[in-house]
Amino acid sequence: MIRELLNQEWLISIAEHLNGQTEWGVMRQVQDLRTQEILKYVESQSPFYGEHLRNRTGGDSEFALLHGLPYTTKSDLRAVGTAVCSLPFNRIATYYETTGTTGKSTPCPRASIDVETSGAYVQQAVQKVYQSTFGTMQALTAIMGPSELYAFGDTYGEICRNLGIPFVRLWPESPRVGLEKAAHLIAELGVSSLICSPAVALALARFYKSIGVEPSGTPVKQILVLGELCTPEMLSNISLIWGAHCTHGLYGSQETHAVATGCTHGNLHLSETNYLVEILPQEGMDSSVGELCLTMLVPGAKPLIRFRTGDLASLYPASVCGCGSHSRCLRIFGRADDVMTIGGRKVFPATIESAVLGVADCVWGYQVDVRLGKDGTDEIEVTLAAEMGNRSISQARELLAAQFNVPVQVSLQNQLDPRTETGAYISWKYARIRDWRSSHDQ
Ligand SMILES: [Zn+2]
Repeated sequence: MIRELLNQEWLISIAEHLNGQTEWGVMRQVQDLRTQEILKYVESQSPFYGEHLRNRTGGDSEFALLHGLPYTTKSDLRAVGTAVCSLPFNRIATYYETTGTTGKSTPCPRASIDVETSGAYVQQAVQKVYQSTFGTMQALTAIMGPSELYAFGDTYGEICRNLGIPFVRLWPESPRVGLEKAAHLIAELGVSSLICSPAVALALARFYKSIGVEPSGTPVKQILVLGELCTPEMLSNISLIWGAHCTHGLYGSQETHAVATGCTHGNLHLSETNYLVEILPQEGMDSSVGELCLTMLVPGAKPLIRFRTGDLASLYPASVCGCGSHSRCLRIFGRADDVMTIGGRKVFPATIESAVLGVADCVWGYQVDVRLGKDGTDEIEVTLAAEMGNRSISQARELLAAQFNVPVQVSLQNQLDPRTETGAYISWKYARIRDWRSSHDQ
């Protein structure tokens, strides 16, 4: 009963924030209070934090209550397993895991308060986007992501049910579905909205193209993307290829839930009430971009304190976006581990994607190889499955060479390495970039 009241209290404060009824100053006071509460909660409930927070080895923080508190890293989570959890498993709502593709899987249980507080943001975002595109919730939706041990399918399935959006689960990687069947059902059932990764949206488009069907001729009129890096250029590219409105579904993870949700203007807005956000400066990089570090304020199954997400991000005021949201905008630049040094300069994954997509009209897929030239300087080879529009290959080459400041080769191909299709579930870099300069990379 006490927990139900707590859930209600949280949902009311989220609704007030989403409706613009909470002044920023009040929000900060409430967050201070919730920070004190969550620190007490994890210290008493989580065996890991009971020990970990006794250290004062962390960096400075703009939030006085977090100042000096140790960070929580992904390797901490892999090392401690279930000891990080703050609730016993018979009191959670459901259990997920990280995919384990970048290391050992870690447990990601969610309590009902986690599901509801995270879902409230996703639900409002989905409702606004559907209202804008369709003017109704009655738009058949394909939820195209993994389901077992993975929150994605449940999150969107529940929200579709709550909003009365009809849906079908079509994960093309599932042995029961596959790309061909997914493509067939989308056309046959009249699916008008897809929720998938950018890689799946492109793979599906290439499949249609290969059987002589223009993706823009299918019933699909809206695509919500998630699960991997997606630059504004990629959103526009997918929109153009499909003749559909394309925006972010959400940004988040199994560990951190829905950290931000997409709006009709193609931006991501932070789930403000649920997190304290720090942007940790990175050596040798522009100070406005840093590693996203989250303190989860919701007293659920596994709140994390000063969790280093490994993603590069920056925050902008809500007013930067014209959609009317009261939450700040979050821009993601890819994983810190995927930053590459090219021609002596550090380059974000997002910068590579934006540059590559900028040289063609429609890019159905791309891959970038980085090699050492004969004289020891870096060289880039970009392979595109693309329609170049008015631009020639040599113009594309010159544009990219000017941006990266190294020699660039560009070639057009119909077939790309198969790992560009779904490798993005492992990492954007694994799927798109082959770095031949270090033997370890391959
Ligand atoms: Zn917006």
